[in-house]
Amino acid sequence: MSNSNSKSLIWELDAQDGKARAGTIRTRRSVIETPIFMPVGTQGAVKGIRFEWLENEIDARIILGNTYHLFLRPGLEAMRRFGGLHRFTTWERAFLTDSGGFQVFSLTDLRKLTEDGVEFRSHLDGSKHFISPEVSMEAQAALGSEIVMVFDECPPGDASHETTKKSLELTARWALRSRERFDALQADDMDTGFTPVPLEPQLSGRQALFGIIQGAGHYDLRSESLYRTVEIGFDGYAIGGLSVGEEKSVMYGVLDHIAHRMPADAPRYLMGVGTPEDLLEGVAAGVDMFDCVIPTRNGRTGSAFTSLGKINIRNAKFTLSDEPLDPNCECSVCKRYSVGYLRHLYQAGEMTSATLVSHHNVAYFITLMRRARQAIIDERFDGFKKQELELMKSNGL
Ligand SMILES: [Zn+2]
Repeated sequence: MSNSNSKSLIWELDAQDGKARAGTIRTRRSVIETPIFMPVGTQGAVKGIRFEWLENEIDARIILGNTYHLFLRPGLEAMRRFGGLHRFTTWERAFLTDSGGFQVFSLTDLRKLTEDGVEFRSHLDGSKHFISPEVSMEAQAALGSEIVMVFDECPPGDASHETTKKSLELTARWALRSRERFDALQADDMDTGFTPVPLEPQLSGRQALFGIIQGAGHYDLRSESLYRTVEIGFDGYAIGGLSVGEEKSVMYGVLDHIAHRMPADAPRYLMGVGTPEDLLEGVAAGVDMFDCVIPTRNGRTGSAFTSLGKINIRNAKFTLSDEPLDPNCECSVCKRYSVGYLRHLYQAGEMTSATLVSHHNVAYFITLMRRARQAIIDERFDGFKKQELELMKSNGL
């Protein structure tokens, strides 16, 4: 897959302002302008938000699917029968799937880690399963995502230097095995479900594979992991193992150390992060892609992210408020409903409350990244970031 018309992903740098980058990622199914926030669709759905709204109102270009969850239920047989995640869910834009590693290491208690892979028990029914780099690549081929992640080990955020180094070496060996199995699957054109006609003539219609940089809070190990991952070679590179309970200063320190050292000619993805503040810090450090469950998770508990900071609609002070959730938001929820009404829905246990607040939150995250992109293009990102962070602290509502 070396000639130019067999690329599975194209990265173009549109503008750079300091370390912050604005770019365009072309996948076989959608064109993604970065920096981008990717809503999480753990079970093949972004919780509480219809695909129609994601497409027509929020204009999300790429969402996540979780291999661990879909592997256990409905299972790969169902995925193959349906012809992959796109046909199953009807979402026609791009999917990024994770490798399943993070969930295996964080959700399951009963697991046995060997060089070969991980044996674990399902958190659903206790049934025994095995996942390895090869199994993960086969699973993600069956899901048919545009961006596939290598299978890695995720050590705890506070792991010692020695433990992290050992883990990182295993991750490097697994990255190579992921690469080899992935290439064989793509070459065979097997198990990829239904292969669409790519949007661009230069694209092959195949899946793209991203490598993951680990190393916890140890800068030397982050550098080593970066070197070993780039040595194997991937379509994009991700920073894993952040936002796993470490202090914010540790996360920002690692970002500052590693993001701008990642290959300039490929997308950079910060996995599982974060708050609006984290996203802005990530962009400033040179990251292009983000995902996180917090817009929808918080949406279900009445917690809204706004340009004026985080608010909770459960607060009694909103009972008589005729204001929108966020006076600066153009989303359809803010245009139509008052925070007093949203609070009433929450108090009355109406499921629409979760749906509407989640919708606003996802729209807010995506719009924040769209505005950051424009600020980078206009070479005013630093001022934009400072102003947004100030406003978020103001708690204006
Ligand atoms: Zn809104």
